[in-house]
Amino acid sequence: MIKVLVCGAAGRMGREVIKAISQEEDMSLVSAVDVREIGKDAGELAGIGKTGILIEEDLLSAIKNTSPDVMVDFTQPSVVKGNMKIAMENGVVPVVGTTGLKYEDIEEIKDLAKKTGVGAFIAPNFSLGANLMMHIAKQVARFLQAVEIIELHHEKKLDAPSGTAIRTAQLLSEVIGDSQTPDSQPSRGDTRWGIRIHSVRLPGLVAHQEIIFGGQGETLTIRHDAPSRECYMPGVKTAIRKAVGLKEVIVGLDKILGL
Ligand code: NAD
Repeated sequence: MIKVLVCGAAGRMGREVIKAISQEEDMSLVSAVDVREIGKDAGELAGIGKTGILIEEDLLSAIKNTSPDVMVDFTQPSVVKGNMKIAMENGVVPVVGTTGLKYEDIEEIKDLAKKTGVGAFIAPNFSLGANLMMHIAKQVARFLQAVEIIELHHEKKLDAPSGTAIRTAQLLSEVIGDSQTPDSQPSRGDTRWGIRIHSVRLPGLVAHQEIIFGGQGETLTIRHDAPSRECYMPGVKTAIRKAVGLKEVIVGLDKILGL
């Protein structure tokens, strides 16, 4: 039985993860951490009824009291690296969906994995469709090198551009290089690896992305829509299973999907 701690347990993704874990026979929730809703039953918050696991605030004491194998983190960009350090220094492998980790942060985490012998699994996007979108875009980029990304998310999202858009730009730059955008006109979005990214934040949206390629007299658009959060759960559960005893740092669900 894989013992799972969920960090960010009262959040939108944390609650969905708690629900998903409860449906599996080989994993169980042992503790739930958040900085709000403290003392409330994590199962009740997730809509699955009482579990007896109450939300607590102190990650380190939750780890010491319940010895989880894996910590699933869906919190926020400003705290995720600190949470990962606490987990890894105490023998717990983080499975991280929280976005906003920078390249330097991931390098730091890789060093920590070498020091502690405890790995981590980081995925800017756990949905199968979004990972297929990135995979297909890499194939298109071999033929059409002019490309821009539009990502559209709900208005409460804290980071921009999204982790998925940044990861898409990184993967595309591996195919087309990073010399895409010489001009810097206003209202033309931000760039990552030289690729333009436009971020839309509106109520009514959940998570959506378009990758638009331009060629001579034609465009090709690849679009992914996640109208609810359940699409991330198969990927999260696969990552939890992969994380048990993991000693290295894996970035991207594509690495374990065989893409
Ligand atoms: P949310 O705001 O609903 O939930 C975040 C939760 O983290 C909140 O309950 C908050 O109180 C809690 N939190 C904040 N600081 C904390 C700390 N120090 N310790 C413990 N808990 C803390 O946000 P959300 O929509 O659930 O998204 C969470 C993160 O996941 C965001 O970064 C988002 O971009 C990312 N996300 C990733 C994927 C993916 O597939 N990788 C999918 C959706 C969202």
